Amino acid sequence: MPKWIIVSGGVLSGLGKGIVSASIGRILSQNYKVVPVKCDGYLNVDPGTMNPIEHGEVFVLSDGGEVDMDFGHYERFMNINCNFNWNLTSGKIFRSVINKERRGEYLGQTVQIVPHVINEIKLQLKNISEKENADIMLVEIGGTIGDIENMIFYEAVRQLKLDYGRQNTMYIHLTYVPELKSVGEQKTKPTQQSTDLLQQAGIQPDIIIGRSEKILSKKSKKKIALFCNLEVNEVFSNPNINNVYELPLIFEKEGLTKIISKKLNLKLKPLSKWSKIVNKMNSPEHTVNIAICGKYTKLQDSYVSIIEALTHAGAWLAAKVNIDWVETTNIEKNPELLKKIKKYDGVIVPGGFGTRGAEGKVQVIEMLRQNNIPFLGLCYGLQLAVVEYARNVCGLEKANSTEVDSDTPHPVVFIMPEQKNKTQKGASMRLGDHLALINKKSKVANMYKATKVYERHRHRYEVNPLYHQILQSKGLKFSGMCPDKELVEYIELPEHKFFIATQSHPELKSRLERPSPLFTGFLRACISN
Ligand code: GLN
Repeated sequence: MPKWIIVSGGVLSGLGKGIVSASIGRILSQNYKVVPVKCDGYLNVDPGTMNPIEHGEVFVLSDGGEVDMDFGHYERFMNINCNFNWNLTSGKIFRSVINKERRGEYLGQTVQIVPHVINEIKLQLKNISEKENADIMLVEIGGTIGDIENMIFYEAVRQLKLDYGRQNTMYIHLTYVPELKSVGEQKTKPTQQSTDLLQQAGIQPDIIIGRSEKILSKKSKKKIALFCNLEVNEVFSNPNINNVYELPLIFEKEGLTKIISKKLNLKLKPLSKWSKIVNKMNSPEHTVNIAICGKYTKLQDSYVSIIEALTHAGAWLAAKVNIDWVETTNIEKNPELLKKIKKYDGVIVPGGFGTRGAEGKVQVIEMLRQNNIPFLGLCYGLQLAVVEYARNVCGLEKANSTEVDSDTPHPVVFIMPEQKNKTQKGASMRLGDHLALINKKSKVANMYKATKVYERHRHRYEVNPLYHQILQSKGLKFSGMCPDKELVEYIELPEHKFFIATQSHPELKSRLERPSPLFTGFLRACISN
């Protein structure tokens, strides 16, 4: 029988519940098979159709599933590959219940939230645990306790304790402990009130974690313990930290491992390898300044995997990576900005959609190519590098992607034929892992140390095969191709210090314990720049 750990949140969103769950997952996965599940209250079936500015990055899994960005944290901390069905959304649950109702599976009954929707959630959780043969199911509930939309999930996880036994279930509640500057004191009332809401839903937390600016004082811990029915050693701190990968170590130091082991009767090993990597991160030997030139730069959550991939590569190369964000629409208005970008050790042009800021990206890429400054292009970054090369090296005036200009005389990037007639939105792009065959004599092969590479994808457009020949004859090297179709997966300029782009999103597979070869290669070039 699996053990169940439920992570809920209180007071406000954005406290880093995903990172807390991932950190707990890291501790547990030292010697158990842990399966993380995220429950999201929204009615979208998956977050693929949501705006990244509102919801943060859409994370893409190897199986092609578009899921909540917390899966990125789970994979990066726990070094595992997650599955699409581990993200339960109200949309998925209701769709499933309504389909069953139409098929007549509830004939004669009035189909209701209780018990049908709740049972559906429990059934899906059980199916995951059995299919994965999980030792521990780590279930994170999105939002904060009290949100109407999440109450179905709270009711379902409340019942888990009755179904699986109290010795096999535990509830961890993450709250916010503000510190009022005027009084200089940590305030526990919001934690008391949100725990009260949780208790009203029938759940007594076994552990409370207080998100706060500094470590929780003894006094705050005592107060929280007294008013929330806990022992003092069941209250933990989650202070502000510069390096999120330290959090599992902080939890371990505060005794979280011991409490979980005792409560669930587990044997947990200390985090020795993890602690070595984190120590290395905290004593860097180099500093690298990187600019990310894109469109969603206001909310950095929309590019979180890129930031993390740089962090991982930095950890392995003992480099501290400073990142500046450049909104490319500003470059279009003021090309002088390009001079500033010239000063960076390297530049990333990340993925993106639509026309806004695209010309600015093309200008940045041109400047990087001409000045031998390291450039890494990701997805849209590859497509716009091809546009730039077509215009400025191949002499194809006004060449463009049809995503930007549908009337371009040279559609060097165009919509994939199989995408043309798709009318349904959601899960309709080219998604997930796809194989690329890498040219043995390329920089890309050298970095991956392999000629067969799987990376994750999320796109509708591709380099137009009609232009492959001219691009290559003018010196753009296609260093990786998709085997069954004529899709360009990697490009590079052999003479340039580092001018490499990929149609994929290698940032999605980067982990602290296994950084992305492309990011490591890019940073290495930036360090020597
Ligand atoms: N908009 C481009 C496409 O759909 C690139 C997508 C991306 O960068 N993820 O192909």
